[in-house]
Amino acid sequence: MTAEIINGKELAAELKSEMKEEVERVRKQGIVPHLTVVLVGDDPASKSYVNGKKKASKEVGISSQIIELPTFTTEKELLKLINKLNLDRDVHGILVQLPLPEHIKEQSIIEAIDPAKDVDGFHPVNIGRMMTGKDTFLSCTPYGIITMLKSRNIQMEGKHAVIIGRSNIVGKPVGQLLLNENATVTYCHSKTPDLKTYTKNADILIVAVGKANKIDADYLQDGAVVIDVGINRLADGTLTGDVDFASAKERASYITPVPKGVGPMTITMLLKNTIKAAIGLADK
Ligand code: NDP
Repeated sequence: MTAEIINGKELAAELKSEMKEEVERVRKQGIVPHLTVVLVGDDPASKSYVNGKKKASKEVGISSQIIELPTFTTEKELLKLINKLNLDRDVHGILVQLPLPEHIKEQSIIEAIDPAKDVDGFHPVNIGRMMTGKDTFLSCTPYGIITMLKSRNIQMEGKHAVIIGRSNIVGKPVGQLLLNENATVTYCHSKTPDLKTYTKNADILIVAVGKANKIDADYLQDGAVVIDVGINRLADGTLTGDVDFASAKERASYITPVPKGVGPMTITMLLKNTIKAAIGLADK
């Protein structure tokens, strides 16, 4: 069996063109969706991520602004800025690029953002709403993964989904979303002995570990759906996922590549959340 490839770049392009039309519609009603991204420090990877977010916003007609602050910004100063953005009715989405410099407590910053503007979906209120199956801002990578599965009508209900990784931004929330879709969910992590015992029984396998080519065909059951979240840069500069794509695609039924997989979907869901925030705020 050779797997069908779920191309995240193509799906993202389709979704963005739908969103462009939606933004045109809401602009006609006088709402200009606006995203403010706050970047503290000069980490080159973070800079490139925020520039990607600005570019993608522009593509669909979302107005955006990047506020760049020096590394020595204090937590108090950052909290003051967030408070100002919370009160600004022209700002619909607030995203503080992580990681923050060590002297700033990330959780304090996440919790300071108005949950109604938390387009990253990291605020505990939004996580709680997700856990209880309420309408909310879903965190972007898990939201993108579920959207990819739905785009191919892949059945989740009654299936065994195995998640490798339990981070707050990927592993835990994607498992919760799969549970909300009535999958039976198993979480694996670095303390899980004999990973294969679990992965071999996975109908849907989500790999979010951060280790290049960690999972190959030997870990899969025939026909598994494999979602590779990992982004790893090899010594020669190329990007690769956590899954050995060449071998896994011969056993899986569906597989996501890296690049052009989950990555482009993450930014796209951020745009979707920003439009949702803009419409939600206008309704208040
Ligand atoms: P974290 O480092 O926060 O989490 C990694 C998880 O993998 C942890 O739960 C860890 O277990 C687990 N793990 C580590 N080693 C093993 C192992 N040998 N066997 C089983 N589990 C293991 O990473 P993130 O969740 O933030 O990101 C994961 C990957 O996804 C990274 O490559 C990241 O770059 C990428 N990523 C991609 C995104 C996209 O848009 N495509 C968005 C976000 C992340 P433990 O908890 O026990 O330490």
